[in-house]
Amino acid sequence: MSTEINGLDTLLMENRKFAPSDECKNQANFNDPGIYERAAKDPEAYWAEQAQHLTWFQPFDQILDWNPPHAKWFLGGKLNAAYNAVDRHRAGSRKNKAAIVWEGEPGDSKVLTYDMLGREVDKAAHVLQSLGVKKGDRVTIYLPMIPELPISLLACAKIGAIHSVVFAGFSAKALRERIIDADSKLLITADAGWRRGGVIPLKTSADDAVADTPIEKILVVERIGQLANAQMMPGRDVYWHELMGQAPHTPFPAEEMDAEDILYMLYTSGTTGKPKGIVHTTGGYLVGANTSMRSVFDIKDEDVYFCTADIGWVTGHTYIVYGPLSAGTTVVMYEGAPDWPNRDRFWEIIEKYGVTILYTAPTSIRTFMKWGPEHIEKHNLDTLRLLGTVGEPINPEAWMWYNEHVGKGRCPIVDTWWQTETGCAMISPLPGITVAKPGSATRPVPGIAAAVFDEQGNPVSPGNGGYLVITKPWPSMLRTIWGDDERFRKTYFGKFPGVYLSGDGARIDEDSDFWVLGRFDDVINVSGHRIGTMEVESALVDHKGVAEAAVIGRTHEVKGQAITAFVTVKEGVQMNTDLATELKQHVVEKIGAIARPEEVIFTAELPKTRSAKIMRRLLRDIAEGRVLGDTTTLADPKVVESLKDLYKHAE
Ligand code: ATP
Ligand code: MG
Repeated sequence: MSTEINGLDTLLMENRKFAPSDECKNQANFNDPGIYERAAKDPEAYWAEQAQHLTWFQPFDQILDWNPPHAKWFLGGKLNAAYNAVDRHRAGSRKNKAAIVWEGEPGDSKVLTYDMLGREVDKAAHVLQSLGVKKGDRVTIYLPMIPELPISLLACAKIGAIHSVVFAGFSAKALRERIIDADSKLLITADAGWRRGGVIPLKTSADDAVADTPIEKILVVERIGQLANAQMMPGRDVYWHELMGQAPHTPFPAEEMDAEDILYMLYTSGTTGKPKGIVHTTGGYLVGANTSMRSVFDIKDEDVYFCTADIGWVTGHTYIVYGPLSAGTTVVMYEGAPDWPNRDRFWEIIEKYGVTILYTAPTSIRTFMKWGPEHIEKHNLDTLRLLGTVGEPINPEAWMWYNEHVGKGRCPIVDTWWQTETGCAMISPLPGITVAKPGSATRPVPGIAAAVFDEQGNPVSPGNGGYLVITKPWPSMLRTIWGDDERFRKTYFGKFPGVYLSGDGARIDEDSDFWVLGRFDDVINVSGHRIGTMEVESALVDHKGVAEAAVIGRTHEVKGQAITAFVTVKEGVQMNTDLATELKQHVVEKIGAIARPEEVIFTAELPKTRSAKIMRRLLRDIAEGRVLGDTTTLADPKVVESLKDLYKHAE
């Protein structure tokens, strides 16, 4: 079944196709297939045209300056990200339109219109200024998913300060490392946050994190109130509500930022190793974010858009804050867990607010599959018209389930491949043009030149796999790694000169569609066959009893590497040796004997990052009996401990 190639073997054959309906085509913002060719012919002209959807204080006079690996876009242009995301809508017909519809975990809610959001951002900018924040300063933000989080980002943007958001689920240690790396003087946090009805004491972590760091002030939002018992240190700690209450009610003038001035830095998830502080600039990033809202998400003024990511990750930066707001969208923002108080919370939110576009992650979809469709069926999801996924390769069975149970077979699905580094969606169907295939992110969006290279840096031929690369600069690309330009050069441009290396493996099919096969570091080598993790995992997830699977290669005397599969099952399924045997056989039938797992290990949980991506490198460390690599971004350290025990037991 498999075809031998010089990059990655391809095993999984997935032939289902879903073409856009005529209705979808007719109404789509992007419905002329010729756009791909036009954009490919002159990407700079394409991006310059897209840039006209933003409001510039001063137009740019040069589109691109490419001095590999350093790109500058929209040179000479001046703009402000907060002005584009908020103020320009306040002046026009969207003044009283809902910008952020916020739902708290305990059931409280708040709606901020563009005008109200603008007033809050202005006040917050005054507050930050009163605390000494200036253009170019770094501000670390460690907040739960409450309205003060996007307000803080936008207030920084308005001043021209660089925000560095640290996911509120991170420990004091992880926060501290990121504060030191960014050299921030101000930390914005909350007394605590809600998670599944429990209280996460953020201020306590913040106190532990800031000792002997450059942090001079901590601005504390009161989310929980007295419960959290936040100790305020006089002279250092100040309450958000007190300063906001005293702030002038006058507009805060938007700083005229150069297109290449830094908008923010953000650390990657740490799935493959030590997180990198990714730097994004103002003009290019905003053009990328705004364009993809119109192309990939086909955004319309009537849409109610719900992205379930946390703003602690790039998905939340681009697709809760800068993308949707710059496009004048109504964004739904949810504070808590999908199963609090019940497993239908997302579906309840969709029904309650009439959500039209839902953007979530494969890991969530697999969790919903595990829980069963009955939680969805309790709600009317008729308003939905478009679905999206991001974060990991989506297994074809999860795609089919999303399509059937959430989209009811009538909503196009955009499987968006991108990274913290790329700033916005890079490979994705356009809902009015592209024929979707379950498990494939399909093709690069207009203006993006992606390719799959072999070891020598030549494009692979159809049917083959290799390194997923971007061959031309794009506006929202990272500019560097904060404080480590050498690491930036080596990591992303060290393998193929002038070409961006994503770190992911992919294959191109006969239609030139892309299939992301997982991280290149995770590729398994069995008897000379190089196998991506995604296809074997998808074969396992295809079995009716399996909820999630992670496969790794461990050293094997004869084969070089043998495949170990870690598997979680759906509710009510018995985990026993019969099932293990059945699963091995299932993989053989689906994709061939070469991918037969040597062992199947059942576990209640897989080790994941706090952004819910599977950390295969830790599974490899466990299987090979090594000391675990960087575990600071691990969501639940108990999971690896119990896996270590399980693994010993299995041997
Ligand atoms: P680190 O770089 O620190 O290891 P990370 O790569 O997990 O962390 P992110 O930038 O949050 O950090 O994630 C980007 C990665 O997520 C991509 O490189 C890819 O592996 C995966 N990914 C995202 N979207 C998709 C998708 N639609 N299909 C396949 N993989 C995806
Ligand atoms: Mg990465």
